[in-house]
Amino acid sequence: MLSANLTYQWLGPVIFVSAGVAFLLLYSHDRKQLSALRLAGAYFLSLIGFMAVMLVDEGTHPGFQSITLISLFSGHFLLVWGVASLLGQRFPRLLFGSAMMIVSIVIIYANLASSPFSLKYMAVCGFIITIALICSQLVWRARSHRVDIVVAAVFLAQAVITLNRIVQMHLSELDLSTRSAFKSSHFASSMQTENAIFAIVVGLALFARYSVTLVMRLNRLAETDPLTGLYNRRAFEAKVPAMRTGSAPLPTGLIICDIDHFKRVNDTYGHDVGDTVLKTVAQLLRNVAGESAICARLGGEEFCILLPESNGEMTRLTAARLRLAIEMQQLVSSGRKFGLTASFGYCELAPADELRAAMARVDAAVYQAKDDGRNLVRIAPMAAAHSEPDGISELITGELQYK
Ligand code: GH3
Ligand code: MG
Ligand code: MG
Repeated sequence: MLSANLTYQWLGPVIFVSAGVAFLLLYSHDRKQLSALRLAGAYFLSLIGFMAVMLVDEGTHPGFQSITLISLFSGHFLLVWGVASLLGQRFPRLLFGSAMMIVSIVIIYANLASSPFSLKYMAVCGFIITIALICSQLVWRARSHRVDIVVAAVFLAQAVITLNRIVQMHLSELDLSTRSAFKSSHFASSMQTENAIFAIVVGLALFARYSVTLVMRLNRLAETDPLTGLYNRRAFEAKVPAMRTGSAPLPTGLIICDIDHFKRVNDTYGHDVGDTVLKTVAQLLRNVAGESAICARLGGEEFCILLPESNGEMTRLTAARLRLAIEMQQLVSSGRKFGLTASFGYCELAPADELRAAMARVDAAVYQAKDDGRNLVRIAPMAAAHSEPDGISELITGELQYK
């Protein structure tokens, strides 16, 4: 029966194993998350080093130093690789390689010159500080969310606390010239506690980073149209208020377009060509409307664009440019060339106007453009004033009609 006492010393290994298993589970759930596999490896390798320090006596085990060094280097290599790949950054080969080389040289020198144990210990601490700073900087450079600031801060704190430990050792009166003297000093126990705490804090911070990445990925999936990559209707409606607020007191410009006789494209060239046409049109709209516009696919072959700080005339001009761009676009299917047109409706959207009502009016303008012969731009009928005495009509057709 197991009768060993579970002392605080076991806290570290338990945390290393738990974090390693958690990252491994994450990877097994989504095999594309290679960074999780690397981080799991980092935790398991660090566990080997941690256990070696705890259980093996250097004097009776000459291979001890190699095991701890190999696990130190490989574990931290996987940590940096995992963090870099999680944030889409390149592995900092030069920095990591230099840090590893310097530590190795110091340790080899310390062995040959029989230097005090504290020199080796400081070399290892210096390596850990460098790695923590590298990770902090990697995360800081690629930060895209508040959680990244926390992750970068955790690595920075680890660097500062490890540095503080070296300083404390220097200031201390204790004799730390041999490994056994160090092991029985309070520095060894505080180091183990700090390592255990950082193992869990770093693990949790990185897990929070995964959660944020996952939520951001799900949000992106939920708001984009998979075929064209444009926003879908729901995302369009969600994004519009911020742009309108940002443009206020100036109006925004609303444009809706519908490809003409699109069914014929499908019938003549096939559904796949129809899909390619939709993607081409989406790209044209994005290019012509510009970065600042919100472009969405409302469904089928109907698209919607919101232009910031755009009055009626500016919106009409953009719609006219979009219409021309689609008309000029040549498409090819199995060597056969064909063209395309689309019908447009637009309106100026004052800050107080209701979006859905405006979209309904612009939709009516698209139908008007279809009725008038297609490949046209039409202004939306004006909204009826609520004070209309006899309530004759809800929509009053706009006066200006353009090609
Ligand atoms: P109109 O000029 O009056 O707009 O005529 P139209 O043919 O463009 O309009 P209609 O509404 O009759 O047909 C739209 C077609 O768009 C029918 C549908 O099969 C096709 N469609 C809708 N979504 C997709 C899609 O994702 N891919 C492809 N290839 N076709 C689609
Ligand atoms: Mg159509
Ligand atoms: Mg349609």
